[in-house]
Amino acid sequence: MDSNSRETTRALLAVIVPCYDEADVIAATTTTLLSQLEEMEREGLVSCESFILYVDDGSKDATWEEIGKVSGKRVKGIRLSRRCGHQCALLAGMEEVAGKCDCCVTIDADLQDDPNVLGEMMRKYKEGSEIVFGVRRDRHTDSWMKRTSAANFYRVMRGLGVECVSNHADFRLVSALAMEDLLDYTERNLFLRGIVAQLGYKQDKVYYDRRRRTAGYSKYPFMRMLDFAIDGITSFSVRPVRMLFWIGLVFMLTAAVIGVYAIVRHFQGETIEGWTSLILSIWFCTGVLLIGLGIVGEYIGKIYIEVKHRPRYRISEKI
Ligand code: UDP
Ligand code: MG
Repeated sequence: MDSNSRETTRALLAVIVPCYDEADVIAATTTTLLSQLEEMEREGLVSCESFILYVDDGSKDATWEEIGKVSGKRVKGIRLSRRCGHQCALLAGMEEVAGKCDCCVTIDADLQDDPNVLGEMMRKYKEGSEIVFGVRRDRHTDSWMKRTSAANFYRVMRGLGVECVSNHADFRLVSALAMEDLLDYTERNLFLRGIVAQLGYKQDKVYYDRRRRTAGYSKYPFMRMLDFAIDGITSFSVRPVRMLFWIGLVFMLTAAVIGVYAIVRHFQGETIEGWTSLILSIWFCTGVLLIGLGIVGEYIGKIYIEVKHRPRYRISEKI
């Protein structure tokens, strides 16, 4: 649907819900999301064919059975053969709904992200936004650990030049157009929120307060979050490698300063036996090694970027 006809037509919305061991929440989540869909239908925001798609990410509990119980005309489900991870489950959901809807919203099964803002997301979509990010305004329901690590993560990401919306997880609306682009990113190491932010087009945000998990437990313990953060950084930036080069240069400069210092001391007649050669070789050789690593890394970085086969550009409009 192009942005001109959005004002007048009801959009077919697909709500994608990734689930790993979420048997305890499926029933309640379905009730909440369905009533939300009905309300939006009454407001003329979505069409009556809009649906929910559960993606069972290889759960070990009764999640799939629970999805079976609620499935029907408006609730569908797909089951992955094994646990592929949250990001992969989201992608599987989008590949499943691509071509069958006008836009999709991805939301966690535990409804920690407030489904009441779905209406606002749809209104922004109707106004022409291709991507609408759900941004957490208040995170007091998250643990101190989670809040601090998240804040630092976004800081590091920005510092490394990665475009990323702060306090936005994977609760977002993506139009069919942006979804088609997104599915052209064929890389294995998926960090969706980075890719989505990079797509361009008209983007907007809606704000909400993050809630507590309704039931079940978090599937992102500290180590998994750390893994995710490292994946995110390394799949978007080769700057850490370039840093090696600069650190090497600093070592070489330090060696030069020590050299000058040693010469000055020599002429003042205060030479310490063996110190100069030892200290100079440590700083100089470390510098050379780091610069060498940085140069090799630079080439590996280039290869890394190439093998991703990311689309180089996209035309958004023609006249
Ligand atoms: N999830 C998934 N596969 C995984 C881990 C998580 O599909 O390997 C789903 C999970 O069921 C939930 C969402 O991803 O719907 C977010 O996970 P969770 O709520 O545990 O993360 P947190 O909110 O604690 O960061
Ligand atoms: Mg959660």
